[in-house]
Amino acid sequence: MRKIAVIPGDGIGPEIVEAALAVLDALDCGLEYEFTQAGQTALDEDGELLPAKTLDLIRTLRVGLKGPVTTPVGKGFSSVNVALRRHFDLYANLRPALSFPGVASRYENVDVITVRENTEGLYSGQETVSEDGDEARAVAVVSRAGSERVVRFAFEMARRRGRKKVTAVHKANILKKTSGLFLEAARAVAKDYGDIEFDDLIVDNACMQLVLNPSRFDVIVTTNLFGDIISDLCAGLVGGLGMVPGANIGEDVAVFEAVHGSAPDIAGKGVANPCALLLAAALMLDYLEMRGEAERVRGAIRRTLKAGECLTPDLGGHCGTRAFTQVLIDAL
Ligand code: NAD
Repeated sequence: MRKIAVIPGDGIGPEIVEAALAVLDALDCGLEYEFTQAGQTALDEDGELLPAKTLDLIRTLRVGLKGPVTTPVGKGFSSVNVALRRHFDLYANLRPALSFPGVASRYENVDVITVRENTEGLYSGQETVSEDGDEARAVAVVSRAGSERVVRFAFEMARRRGRKKVTAVHKANILKKTSGLFLEAARAVAKDYGDIEFDDLIVDNACMQLVLNPSRFDVIVTTNLFGDIISDLCAGLVGGLGMVPGANIGEDVAVFEAVHGSAPDIAGKGVANPCALLLAAALMLDYLEMRGEAERVRGAIRRTLKAGECLTPDLGGHCGTRAFTQVLIDAL
């Protein structure tokens, strides 16, 4: 038995987490769950957005499946997700964008994985504003070690998954020092992976190429801000955030989640689409070396969406989360 930490989260979180656990149970893959909380629910119950007991549990079990959490609007509340990444040094943010049949999109056969550096760059948290309030500055931190480890992660992941090419995305023509250092590090690491094609692209050109011809891309590795933007662009290529999972991976801790938020507008209505969290659960199974089970989940999603008989409202159907999940379990 392998135990994982489960954070149901806020809004639609508990509904889609229930769906994901039902699918994992149906796989009978020997996972056990220990539940904890973060976000608004944790604030209400424990007076803290990210309680120490939640961090302790994740540290002990090393793998977490997390529903979306609401960060309350107002001063003094920093993002739970950013805090989790920093606390466990979850330096690689993996976001695969994959086309599924039956999901409205302008493209078919998109299959791009973005690996985003998750701890450095312009998200260093170092922002200042002048005394008169008329000038603001943000510090971008790029280190050779931080760049090399995320690029190495991208190549190792590419090799494990049989991917053919890694593209480093940067702005080294203008940001010569920061983006320049990232590119230098990427080129150096690429030399260790002669079996995988490597190229690099300036970020603006990469965005245009992604929209013109997404199949030109396989694995993208890039710095924090560019990765944030590019992975959402890639989500748009496959029908939006509802189908895109995310994995935050560090040296010995990993947290898997949907890319979308807690969707307060539909919370409690039983109509949330669980696919993004199910795909995150599949990434978790990959991480736990249960690749066969992971493929079963992705295959069942593909078949359920293709059949189109029971879809949630965001996908154009009339089914609720539980009915959709049951059809998916039958398709496993
Ligand atoms: P959102 O992603 O929650 O919702 C945007 C729109 O997409 C809404 O109309 C929503 O109904 C719809 N939607 C999202 N997920 C869906 C699903 N699975 N099925 C069907 N429809 C879905 O974004 P938001 O409204 O900007 O944010 C709401 C809250 O979520 C905020 O508090 C924000 O901070 C938080 N958030 C959390 C995470 C996270 O925990 N990873 C990520 C993003 C936003």
